[in-house]
Amino acid sequence: MSRRSRSLHREIPGFFNALLIFGTLATLVIQELRHPLRQSRENKLRRDLRNLAIAAASAATVSLMERPVTTPLARAVERQHWGLLKLVRLPVSVELALSVVLLDYTLYVWHYLTHKVPLLWRFHLPHHVDLDMDATTALRFHFGEIMLSVPWRAAQVRLLGISPMGLSLWQTLTIIEIMFHHSNLRLPYALESRLCRLMVTPRMHGIHHSIVRKETDSNWSTIFSWPDYLHRTIRLDVPQSAITIGVAEYQDPSELTLGSVVRLPLTAQHPSGQLQQAARPSLTGADDPRERQAVPEREPQACSTTLAG
Ligand SMILES: [Zn+2]
Repeated sequence: MSRRSRSLHREIPGFFNALLIFGTLATLVIQELRHPLRQSRENKLRRDLRNLAIAAASAATVSLMERPVTTPLARAVERQHWGLLKLVRLPVSVELALSVVLLDYTLYVWHYLTHKVPLLWRFHLPHHVDLDMDATTALRFHFGEIMLSVPWRAAQVRLLGISPMGLSLWQTLTIIEIMFHHSNLRLPYALESRLCRLMVTPRMHGIHHSIVRKETDSNWSTIFSWPDYLHRTIRLDVPQSAITIGVAEYQDPSELTLGSVVRLPLTAQHPSGQLQQAARPSLTGADDPRERQAVPEREPQACSTTLAG
């Protein structure tokens, strides 16, 4: 095996991955307490425990169902030179960078589908009904959503030509970035208004978690923000103080216990259509009191790319 092939066949070591992920989580949790971006509605400890329980089930699903498919597939891609990135022999660093960019772009497409396909929305809903958003929200994905994403992940690896190192690098960067952009961390405005032109930031993703439809229907990117700029789905003009986090139909904390959230894909009464109706009253004429509380004093211009504070 050549040196090039050996480096692409490797993965980021497990202990280093765990150190990076838990180190990032711990740093964000501490910084969120010191510099919160949004006011919390629920008891933080209870929410964190609920989110970590949901995260444990999804981590087990990744180990039992996703990795047994994607790891051997990425090895076969590397051995057999399958897929787009294997059409030409690129330098290792260029191939790895393109792997991350292409996987990130196709994750944008998957995230869009989880909102637009009713069955997928049922399973993405447990992530969005969190009434506050912080670093633990990033880990709160229903195990059913992980299961449904396995064929998509396999197609990404096979068609794009992703090596084991390319996949491993993207997975690590993705989990670190989703913890960062879900975090309730108030970054200095000057820094974040520049950063969001390159990557997804807490204020930007906070708008995606708004109960208002026009805001949820924006900012689908994960690591880099360019897919939202490319598809004109970027929205930065909503102040965080004007956002109500969650889904309009699920605002009662007593309906969002751990058991209810786990059963939500089966019990959801609003599998996508109702959410898709939600919008700020001044934009649509709708008059839902649950949304009225989220209306900012000054209505922002639609689809502005200037970051609101
Ligand atoms: Zn979403």
